Parts: sequence; C-alpha cells; structure tokens
Amino acid sequence: MKVSIKEHDIHLVTTFRTTHGASDSKRALIIDIDGGLGEAAPVHYYGENTETVKDFVGKASKVLGDDPFQIESISEKLDRVAALNYSAKAAIDMALHDLVGKKLGIPIHKYFGITPRRDLATSFTISISDPETMKKQTEKSPGYHVYKVKVGVPGDIEMVAAVRDATKAKIRVDANEGWTVKEAIARVKELEKLDVEFIEQPLNRDDLDGFKLLRSRVDLPIIADEGVFRATDIPRYTGLVDGINIKLSKSGGLREAFKMIAVARAHRMKVMLGCMVETSVGITAAAQIASLVDYADLDGNLLISDDPYSGVTLDNGYLRLPDGPGLGVAAK
Ligand code: MG
Repeated sequence: MKVSIKEHDIHLVTTFRTTHGASDSKRALIIDIDGGLGEAAPVHYYGENTETVKDFVGKASKVLGDDPFQIESISEKLDRVAALNYSAKAAIDMALHDLVGKKLGIPIHKYFGITPRRDLATSFTISISDPETMKKQTEKSPGYHVYKVKVGVPGDIEMVAAVRDATKAKIRVDANEGWTVKEAIARVKELEKLDVEFIEQPLNRDDLDGFKLLRSRVDLPIIADEGVFRATDIPRYTGLVDGINIKLSKSGGLREAFKMIAVARAHRMKVMLGCMVETSVGITAAAQIASLVDYADLDGNLLISDDPYSGVTLDNGYLRLPDGPGLGVAAK
C-alpha cells in the first residue's frame, strides 16, 4: 500500500489554554493510504510531535503489506515497529478503516455494526480566560447542549460560575491533572453547587490513593483521561473512577477504541469519547463509533477557523454522520 502525508496549518478561533499549555495554531497531519485518510493529532505531553509522527509513519509504511482488511495483524505489527506513538498509529488505523469502508462501499459505523443515534450531543469547550471573557464566549457560542470548561488553574471555580451564569445547559469540567487531592475535594464540592455533570482527570494519573479518597468524599462522577491509553490501562482504575475518556489519538485508533468500550463496560464504567484539536478527518473518525458511548466530546474541528476537510456535522447541537463510504470525509 502506498502511504503519503499531507500537512496543513490550522488556526484556533480562540487561544486554546489548558494546564498543559496554550496554542493559537497547530499543524495537522493527514495520512493517505491508497486514498484512505487518517489524522495524527500529536501532543507534546505524550512525547509526540509532527517529526515523530512522520518518522513513525515512514517506518510503518514498510510493514503494512498490501491487504487493508488485515487491520488486526497490521496493528500488532505497528506495535512492534515502536511502542507508544499512539497518534501516528491512530492515523494509520483511521486511513485503513477509511480505505476498507470505501472498498466495501459502506460507512465505518456500518462496518462496526453501529446504529447512529440522533440524540448524541457534543460538548463545546470554553477556553480558559478571565471569568467575564468566558461568560461572553459562552454567550457568543449558543446552541450547544453541553459546555466543557478546562479547570485546574487558579480562579477556576469563578470561571465555571461565569459559564453557569451564561447558560442553563450542562457543564462538564476537566482539570487535566491540575489539582492535589485536598484541592480537588474542596473544589469538587463547589462544582457540585454549580450543577456540573462530571469532573475529568482531577488528579495526577498515578495518584490512585488520591482517587480513592476523592471518590469517597464527593458525589460528582469522576472520569479518567490522561492515564488511560489502551484497554490494558482500564482495570487499574476500577472502583476509583466512574468512567474513562477514550481518544483515538491515545488508543492508537478505532479498533482499539472499540475494544476499550467493551472493556470499560465490563468494569461497569461510563465511557466518554474525546479528541484533541483536530480537523474533520479525526473528529469524523471518532464520530463513527460515538453512538456507543455515554458522553461525546468531539469539538476539535469546531475550535478551528480553517478546517481543510468536511465530514461530521451538527444539527441543533447533535452529531450527524456523513453518508459517504469509509469515514465519509472530503477535502474542502
Ligand atoms: Mg481531558
């Protein structure tokens, strides 16, 4: 199979700020395998960048073989090329699924046997800023059923309160490992008063005692994100959190994400499907399996002003899949 990489500079509508850092623009990497498309969304805090992705894809292209239907064995080969590199692996996995779907003439949700739901809303992220700006940002972005607020920074409760002032919709918060357990207990109690739906990654991924203590002290559901890459990472959090956040760029693609949903269910966990700042290629790939999860956080393409691709759309805040075969994405 023939592999090529296309690069696009994409720009954020509003500066994207979390405990991991801030950015105004990003380079999107689109992998093309015989006409099948996939996206790598590398982030520095998982040890990836555009160069590591290109390097991995270069090595991986030598082991792909010539049958895209062998995704399972190709995935095993990719793990032998190098550990980690999950966003690069995800791009290859997406491209293979896109290619397979195009060859079969069916969209990928059908390939997985999934009935698309009509009532699945994505959350929309309000970027960290001063409370007044965040209130205005929320008012300027009406029509979403759920807003997500990044916390874990000084003054974060006031920020959530400002968004709450601007909307009656659901609010989810994500601390990106930004709190100590003592801070988390106090702040989550405040967030409960603001009618927040759940809290994502309040503590460092390895603070398992902290999660145990926090969960015994608060009622708000807790979702693990940063420490959960693949299915094997899930059992460790049993009894410590209420759910996990799966992202294709962490799991290494659709195939592993599909398995993770089953593993999470077996551990009686809720499932959230999240994303990075990505184009419609990566977001549409995730949307193809999103009907299996409880919470969709697929707003990466909504946060950029110059998405080079089209795919999944929103109807009144609800995700709508494209009709085309494979991922159903197209260059604009
Ligand atoms: Mg998160």
